[in-house]
Amino acid sequence: MNILLVFAHPEPQSLNAALRDIAVAELEAQGHTVGVSDLYAQGWKAQIDRADFPSLATDSRLKVPAASGADFAAGTLTDDVKAEQEKLLWADMLILQFPLWWFSMPAILKGWVDRVYAHGFAYGVGVHDATRWGDRYGEGRLAGKRAMLVVTAGGWAEHYGPRGINGPIDDLLFPINHGILHYPGYTVLPPFVAYQVDRLDAAGFEGLAQALRTRMRTLEATTPIPYRRQNGGDYLIPTMQLRPGLGDRGAAGFGLHLDGESEAAATAA
Ligand code: FAD
Repeated sequence: MNILLVFAHPEPQSLNAALRDIAVAELEAQGHTVGVSDLYAQGWKAQIDRADFPSLATDSRLKVPAASGADFAAGTLTDDVKAEQEKLLWADMLILQFPLWWFSMPAILKGWVDRVYAHGFAYGVGVHDATRWGDRYGEGRLAGKRAMLVVTAGGWAEHYGPRGINGPIDDLLFPINHGILHYPGYTVLPPFVAYQVDRLDAAGFEGLAQALRTRMRTLEATTPIPYRRQNGGDYLIPTMQLRPGLGDRGAAGFGLHLDGESEAAATAA
């Protein structure tokens, strides 16, 4: 596979950088071709603003979706954004790697999403009418590709458990896994999350490295998170509500958007 790893940490000697190098080495050993977007090293511009839209007249009000769509359609987005879009189209698999900062991704990575996910590229794709709300959530430009998160966290695994004070990790990562990866079409694998990393000793590091190598060896065999597809019949259009009768196996909140049939099958297996 062609694999793109988008990396967001400012320090080349960080734990994250060491884990990135381990992941890349393992993927290449498996015969994959790996590209890395190291956002801090690239000096990635995190904020979206007028400079992103060269075609926008200087006296026009900036409306980001419209300006984004116009420059995407004309092929006139900035070169840094076009290069990242090309990498996404090239890659069969996308890995986003970052330290958990304030229960989310570092701002530079969010800015990568804001700018690279242009209108017409990652959203606003497909027919929008009375019977269809575009190609998204399992369909879209990046459909057929896989994606996953590699995340480090200072907190303990228990802090992110079902009753942990931080909230369950799957809930915290839902806006990224479902809202950023599944939305433009990716099939999303369960995240690799390393907990309690701030005082990692040598044995802890080696255990983590081995677990990461194992995940990198099994990308193609790993069962994806069973997110429902928008256009698979589970949602009413145009309200986008889950159909009555679905998700009634005790699921609530974000869990409603997991396919119950797949869940039942996974539990039975
Ligand atoms: P580093 O600081 O680089 O390393 C951590 C430890 O790993 C080191 O002390 C060392 O013991 C070991 N190590 C590093 N490199 C190696 C190596 N090559 N070999 C062996 N051992 C090594 N945590 C949460 O849980 N939730 C949050 O919401 C959250 N918010 C944060 C917000 C901010 C702004 C910041 C700065 C931190 C936050 N944290 C949070 C903690 C954060 O997630 C961790 O500090 C981060 O994940 C650690 O990753 P790192 O790459 O920066 O580690």
